[in-house]
Amino acid sequence: MTDTTIAMVTGANKGIGHTVVRRLAERGWTVLLGSRDPGRGAAAAAELRGDVEVLPIDVTNDESVAAAAKLVEERYGRLDVLVNNAGVVGSRVAALDTGAADLLACYDTNVFGPVRVTRAFLPLLRRSAAPRIVMVSSGMGSITRTGDPDRVESSLVSLGYPSSKTALNMITTQYAKALPEFRVNAADPGFTATDLNDHRGYQTVEEGSDAIVALATVAPDGPTGGFFDRGGPVPW
Ligand code: NAP
Repeated sequence: MTDTTIAMVTGANKGIGHTVVRRLAERGWTVLLGSRDPGRGAAAAAELRGDVEVLPIDVTNDESVAAAAKLVEERYGRLDVLVNNAGVVGSRVAALDTGAADLLACYDTNVFGPVRVTRAFLPLLRRSAAPRIVMVSSGMGSITRTGDPDRVESSLVSLGYPSSKTALNMITTQYAKALPEFRVNAADPGFTATDLNDHRGYQTVEEGSDAIVALATVAPDGPTGGFFDRGGPVPW
């Protein structure tokens, strides 16, 4: 079994996740670049240097997640850092027209996805000397920030995406309690120019990856059950 830190990032074929993979690989880590489309994953990995390997994984598909965990088990025998980054905006239907099916599609990726992946990779993470899980949440999941008229997060009125990230925040704190030997934290990248928002975000992907990288590399006695952006703690 290798001594190198082994990390896996879901939804890493583009956007913030791709930059997280690059930055973790620059530390000399072995980084598994999760991508639901192997071709897009291979093209994204080809842009990076270091020990980067494509891991096919669709977070909405139990079989795909199980196959990915099996592959990591066979090849590496453990995982040190899991970054649950894959996310979608989901339906852009107006709040009052939103139905349960609209929410389900969004929740399947943003909420159920991290649970599927975390559960499947838990046996591998338990074999790490310093297991860390980063849930890529959003300031849109902060009830405090979305209710503050001075914050950009208050400008969107939507049932799906914001509540999916609020649910993910609670899942993060519950995992942190259930896994006291782990560091489990939620990251808010901040409003970052990616395909997710048609590149309207005002941060670069480098800036958007700061909080995630900080939590992926957090010390074994560092915070757990917290919510952070690149500036520090984020209010729930
Ligand atoms: P992005 O550029 O659209 O990237 C999203 C990634 O998730 C893509 O690689 C996408 O793969 C992948 N993905 C979507 N559904 C998936 C599935 N079922 N299985 C596996 N991968 C899947 O968006 P981003 O801005 O980098 O977002 C990354 C994370 O940051 C998300 O969780 C998002 O909610 C969060 N976030 C972003 C911002 C922002 O301003 N950008 C702010 C706060 C939080 P495909 O290429 O195959 O679609």
